[in-house]
Amino acid sequence: MEFYSSQITNLVEQLSKLPGIGAKSAQRLAFHIINMPKEQVVTLTAAITDAKARVRYCKECCTYTDNELCPICASPKRNHKYIMVVETPGNLAAYEKTGKYEGVYHVLHGAISPMAGTGPDDIRLRELMARLNGDVDEVIVATNKNLEGDTTATYISKLVKPLGIKVSRIASGVPAGGDLEYIDEVTLYRALEGRTDM
Ligand code: ZN
Repeated sequence: MEFYSSQITNLVEQLSKLPGIGAKSAQRLAFHIINMPKEQVVTLTAAITDAKARVRYCKECCTYTDNELCPICASPKRNHKYIMVVETPGNLAAYEKTGKYEGVYHVLHGAISPMAGTGPDDIRLRELMARLNGDVDEVIVATNKNLEGDTTATYISKLVKPLGIKVSRIASGVPAGGDLEYIDEVTLYRALEGRTDM
């Protein structure tokens, strides 16, 4: 069933593999790309190729970076005794935008989800545990407020508490089911300030 050239069909197919892009959006994007000036298309494809080639995981917190350490982990101005655990680099960015958090982060790249078959070994938990041998005062769990985020928070708490390190969870100011990425900065800051011990 080919309405267009096979090139467009292929482009639509590739775009529809992206998260949140259905068949209709993929088609709209494909037409948009075809209509873009050539230089802009070259810039876009180069940005994708370049990012994929150069971006890697921070050795410390596992967020995306193009150096061994991300700017946050590399900064002596940050308080490295406080580790906030988030699900995605997007969540990290959301907290950074509040400009109020002075600690460091740990990015799990997912959450435990028995339904989706994602277990503790499928997210960056081992890397988190390896960081706790050092001088850490508190692990602030800021996973999303949904079933997966809650399951992950409980799991982390059970692992970390026996080490004698304080574990807290961001306050319930964040609406249930809320993805941290879409919550405003004031709400996020309040959630952080109002965190409770686990
Ligand atoms: Zn880092």
